[in-house]
Amino acid sequence: MTWLVYPGVRSALATRPVFCTSFRMRLSESTRTLSCLCLVLAWLFGPDTAPGAALKTQNVFLIISDGLRWQEIFNGAEESLFSKKYGGVTDTNALGRAYWRPTPEARRSALLPFIWTEIAQNGQLFGNQAKGSVVTVTNGKKFSYPGYNEILTGSGDPRVDSNDKRPNPNLSVFEWLNRSARLKSRVAVFGTWDVFPYIFNIERSHLPIWPGWEPQFAHWEISPPTYLTELRSETPPMWEDLTWDSFLFHAVRDYVKRERPRLLFIGFGETDEWAHAGRYDEYLHAAHRVDDFVRQLWQLTQSLRQYRGKTTFILTADHGRGDGLTAWKDHGEKVAGAQGDWIAIIGPDTAALGERGQTQSVTESQLAATIAALLGEDYCRAVPRSGAPITEVIGKPAQSSRSTPNRTQ
Ligand SMILES: [Zn+2]
Repeated sequence: MTWLVYPGVRSALATRPVFCTSFRMRLSESTRTLSCLCLVLAWLFGPDTAPGAALKTQNVFLIISDGLRWQEIFNGAEESLFSKKYGGVTDTNALGRAYWRPTPEARRSALLPFIWTEIAQNGQLFGNQAKGSVVTVTNGKKFSYPGYNEILTGSGDPRVDSNDKRPNPNLSVFEWLNRSARLKSRVAVFGTWDVFPYIFNIERSHLPIWPGWEPQFAHWEISPPTYLTELRSETPPMWEDLTWDSFLFHAVRDYVKRERPRLLFIGFGETDEWAHAGRYDEYLHAAHRVDDFVRQLWQLTQSLRQYRGKTTFILTADHGRGDGLTAWKDHGEKVAGAQGDWIAIIGPDTAALGERGQTQSVTESQLAATIAALLGEDYCRAVPRSGAPITEVIGKPAQSSRSTPNRTQ
């Protein structure tokens, strides 16, 4: 059962998630929902607390690169996969020149230069298991629809156990926030995969989306620039259920300039497709392109008054993948380690702690409430089974120090 309380009043979240988080961490998994519900009831019907400091974030972009591993995020390219046999790579010299460097720090900077300059210097990165920072999906399925459902609705759901095109029974934080007076009609979805209209339950949520893929979603389909519509129809698809990341990026950039959304989902898909195809070279190139798309979007937002200094970007993946010479291609319930994930975040309310180490574990189920909290709303109150916000990324100290003990990069 989902108990809904729709957002309406901008609430000061700075204090409340701390209670929810710290209390819940002392409880077993089986009692988490109950504990959260109790806190919710206490908050709803008990005395309110004094408002906390107002946050600066007024816009949030959630950007997902499907199945992009934490291993590449933190270590860069993996040399053992520079081979025809294990990585489908024919020109290993060219791939080496592009992405091989002697240290993990240099490799990851070559692969993901925006993440390892702008975000590492001014934001936070979670998920480097070698440094004691673990991010996981909790749904147990370790594939796409359950992963997106967990991220967007705050918890895994046993009913979501396939990638079949079934309307999501759960309420996403995007749909919920789109019902608030402040954000109504300022929320949009862009995703390369043809299951996104179902994951966001477009027929119920009425969220604008691109591409719409099927006629029943046409009413809510965002119109991209004419050149993009023509280019898409004239370019042979590589996959029947996925369009190119580059097409999506151009549609997003146009929409941001034209419509100025305040909450935006951007789902890139090529990283997962190339990994399943066993093409490590193309997988790396796709990750490199996503990094550059994010750079361009960040620079665009910083050039526009509505967004500059008021926008938070959250980057993550919907699941991890296996490890080693062959398991890197796969993910799913039986693939060891595929629950491992990563989160990168940058924005005006996130302290510049860089690459995090020795942190408490973080789950993808916390992202829905984190997004809402950054926008001043309490998703946990509306959906008690949701993971609590990641409080460490919300609220900058007056003088944020980059020499904090947690900083490892
Ligand atoms: Zn996926």
